[in-house]
Amino acid sequence: MSNSIGIYIHIPFCRAKCFYCDFNSFACRDELVPAYFNALKKEILLYSEKLKGFSIKSVFIGGGTPSAVDEHYIYEVISLLDSEFSLDERVEISIETNPGTLTKEKLELYKAVGINRLSIGLQAWQDQILKSLGRIHTAKEFEQNITLAKKIGFNNINVDLIFGIPGQTLEDWIETLKHVVALEPQHLSCYSLKIEEGTVFGNSLEKGELVPIEDEIDREMYSFCKDYLSIKGYKHYEISNFAKPGLECRHNMVYWKAEEYVGLGAGAHSYFKGLRFNNISDIESYIDGIYYNKVITENIEVINSKESMAEFMLLGLRLIDGVCMEEFKSRFNEEIYNIYGNQIGKMQEKGFLIVRDGKIALSTIGLDYANQVFMEFI
Ligand code: SF4
Repeated sequence: MSNSIGIYIHIPFCRAKCFYCDFNSFACRDELVPAYFNALKKEILLYSEKLKGFSIKSVFIGGGTPSAVDEHYIYEVISLLDSEFSLDERVEISIETNPGTLTKEKLELYKAVGINRLSIGLQAWQDQILKSLGRIHTAKEFEQNITLAKKIGFNNINVDLIFGIPGQTLEDWIETLKHVVALEPQHLSCYSLKIEEGTVFGNSLEKGELVPIEDEIDREMYSFCKDYLSIKGYKHYEISNFAKPGLECRHNMVYWKAEEYVGLGAGAHSYFKGLRFNNISDIESYIDGIYYNKVITENIEVINSKESMAEFMLLGLRLIDGVCMEEFKSRFNEEIYNIYGNQIGKMQEKGFLIVRDGKIALSTIGLDYANQVFMEFI
């Protein structure tokens, strides 16, 4: 394994809980913010020994809504990372933000501390759809935020969008994409809405109060998105992600290439030294655990070579370029066909996988049946 890794920092605070959200995020827990950041800084210090000799290629501050907390917390965390770890000179430092929580002061301080990639959660252009999702902002606020961020000098901006929302029409989705692309972000993440159990949407679905969008419309939305963004110069590089050439998210590439990373903060996941594990997700237990030197990691799993190969396939096939056969061989000292020849053949026959230029990738139809393909490699 390379000694270059990614760092994920989890900020679990949000202004309100969106109706579709099953992330480890909490609204109205602001009283815990100071203690949380003290714990987070302590966890960074605990890792400074363990990460000696590693070069940090990416830092991703996610959540939750990192922009919901006062900017000095973010400043302190990044300054500490910089002093304790060896950040690559080309390190990508991303922060997730949401309209309704961003200000000029925040953006200026993010820029000053070295954040060079901004991700803004918009989801949809229509205010009534934003309301139906439980979002706290309007499209206008998003527009003001992105315009200001560009003015302050951010030139690597991602916008998060969702399609397949109950009540959303294809026209709404087209309008969303057109308005967002006109604002010239460098990166777009376009996810099809998944209704998860235990969320407001999940509960409404169970009670029969929510009508999910038809599969056919969802696929039409995806298809339009791929075609339109390609015409507009975005490279489709992962099932749900599009970027201007050279501006693919380096941190997410760490995940998709099944490389190692360390996650810090409540509920953060890590893949480090051949182990997968996560921190406990409850904020108070995390703070308490760090303060009193208790064990805060759980679900520790040794990834054996069979699992490691399966992960390499599952994650790598998410990339439009697919899995490189040579890379598989140099990583596992095995020919990919010796291990997965049957699965690859079967999926090729169905037309879901294509083999080209030493790579195995999802076909255009395969993109719509990705889960079926992934199941073959589990
Ligand atoms: S802002 Fe993001 S993390 Fe927070 S509740 Fe909404 S979807 Fe979840």
